[in-house]
Amino acid sequence: MTDFAKRQAGVRERAGVDAVLLVPGANLRYFTGLEFGLSERPILAFLDAEGLALVLPELEVPQLEAHPEGSPRVFSWSDEAGYAGAFRAALTQLGLTDRTVGIDSMTMRAGEYLALLEAAPGLQVRRAEGDLMAIRARKEPGELDAIHEAVALSERALRRLLPELRAGQSEQEIAARLSDLLKAEGSEGDAFAPLVQSGPNSALPHGGPSARPLGAGEPLLIDFGGRKGGYPADITRTVFLGNPQSELARIFEVVSEANRAAVAAVGPGVAMQEIDRAARRVITAAGYGEAFIHRTGHGLGLEVHESVPQLAEGVTTPLEPGMVMTIEPGIYLPGVGGVRLEDDVVVSETGAEVLTRLPHRLPAGQ
Ligand code: ZN
Ligand code: ZN
Repeated sequence: MTDFAKRQAGVRERAGVDAVLLVPGANLRYFTGLEFGLSERPILAFLDAEGLALVLPELEVPQLEAHPEGSPRVFSWSDEAGYAGAFRAALTQLGLTDRTVGIDSMTMRAGEYLALLEAAPGLQVRRAEGDLMAIRARKEPGELDAIHEAVALSERALRRLLPELRAGQSEQEIAARLSDLLKAEGSEGDAFAPLVQSGPNSALPHGGPSARPLGAGEPLLIDFGGRKGGYPADITRTVFLGNPQSELARIFEVVSEANRAAVAAVGPGVAMQEIDRAARRVITAAGYGEAFIHRTGHGLGLEVHESVPQLAEGVTTPLEPGMVMTIEPGIYLPGVGGVRLEDDVVVSETGAEVLTRLPHRLPAGQ
């Protein structure tokens, strides 16, 4: 069972505030287990010394019965009354009107923020996204199990897809088939819409699948992931239908080596930028430094892109055991094609454990 009370106490203490306030999303799910959608009816969770309190639209109150924690304090509001009164009642009864609260300034909307200040002009509001992410970044064993499962089922889906690939299939067709295979392998759905890019399209790091048909000898870049227990996989493989042209074959080797160098650099206490440097050193030495146009990796958890760890130049924060990240160097040659190889990696007590088991080089087609 997830210990939500421990998570809540941890973030309040770390942020050094009287309460942490959350809106629906990954933070709310992580710290309370509650899954509400962000809508035009504001929902606000207060994590204070007593535990959990909620400002909640009346029509959502029945949802709480499924809540594992039992009975949070609830300040409900109806469509007729509006939410301003519930904001005021919560801040007053929780004794927060002139206290300090922490928010995730990147997910709380201006609407909730202004409603808070209108209800309690003396409220001190502080950014707490760094504290929220620092706690979420160190994964608990249950979270690691879920990511493990998401990775394993995603790999099975890709292994089923690759022999089916044929010249003439469109990127969109291949992406739709991959989504079906993920579901067939037990995924709760796509962790994100798969990127399937063929030929010169593979040189666009964030392009979506198009109607372009796959041609013989071309690179096909597939960036995808399934989900299990709410946790995603994020994997990229680049395959070739037939024999690749010589420069693409060469950059494949360079990217594979850069990926392995970055993985080898992972360990507790290592500055995050060192992982980026390890990958970049290999690619730069091969003469493609200018063609590696993004960071080496990002955190992976309830959200596919988490800000901790951030594997980029200038980030000197040390890695800690339990942090999960992607390692995804790439080389992109405009008009020719690109190669990216992305693995999911967890920091262990002594080094790194690579969760992805698929080899970098995979056969495609018949
Ligand atoms: Zn990816
Ligand atoms: Zn990624």
